[in-house]
Amino acid sequence: MMGGTVDILMYHSIAEAPGPTSIAPELFEAQMMALATSGLPVLRMDDVPAHLSGGQGRAVAITFDDGFRDFAEVAWPVLRRLDLSAMVYLPTDCMDGTERWDGAHDPPRPLMTWNEVRQLASDGVDFGNHTATHSDLSALDEAAIANELGTADARMQRELGRRPLHCAPPYGRSSDAARRIMARDRLTSVGTRLATAGPSSDLHDLPRLEMYYFTNLIRWRAHLEGRGGLYLQLRRAFRQIRSQIS
Ligand SMILES: [Zn+2]
Repeated sequence: MMGGTVDILMYHSIAEAPGPTSIAPELFEAQMMALATSGLPVLRMDDVPAHLSGGQGRAVAITFDDGFRDFAEVAWPVLRRLDLSAMVYLPTDCMDGTERWDGAHDPPRPLMTWNEVRQLASDGVDFGNHTATHSDLSALDEAAIANELGTADARMQRELGRRPLHCAPPYGRSSDAARRIMARDRLTSVGTRLATAGPSSDLHDLPRLEMYYFTNLIRWRAHLEGRGGLYLQLRRAFRQIRSQIS
């Protein structure tokens, strides 16, 4: 069959902190070194659609949600040294401040400033739309969805000089209306469903790999070597069971 697959990795904060949205710096570095030595190509999100439709074999893309300051201070120095590209999805009204949305840590963690974002953009980091206020798009009507995404587009155009072509709805939640609006003039949208993206994936509801599930480096290396299929299936089954009981 024509078309390749892409493991779209999902990170949030790279810090020594409790909870599934933080990965310790040393562990992040070890995950990235394993990736860099695996020989798998690491794509920018711009190149994911072409790989899925007409590429061959496995590839990886690296994404970060929320624009935490530790991306600039901890993650990017590692990625740059290993020559790996990354996409960071920004909640544009929250930048220059701290996380302040449902599910945020207490105390809230700092986000990057627009100055830092501009510097990183000039270093080659890609930025995408994570809405203006980090809202749950599945709970909004069409006009409110368009306003959340449009406000974030306009802010990124103003701050970075270009409109984002990629989008990640907060909490991985979207609706048919949200997916239709996200698809307008955009190359991809990513969710939080745990799977590898393939030729038949919806470009506006792409699955990702939550890297909190790969904090065991032996398991991560096994996945990179193509021996991780069973583990992913088990995690997916576990997630479905958990969603039924919580
Ligand atoms: Zn988020």
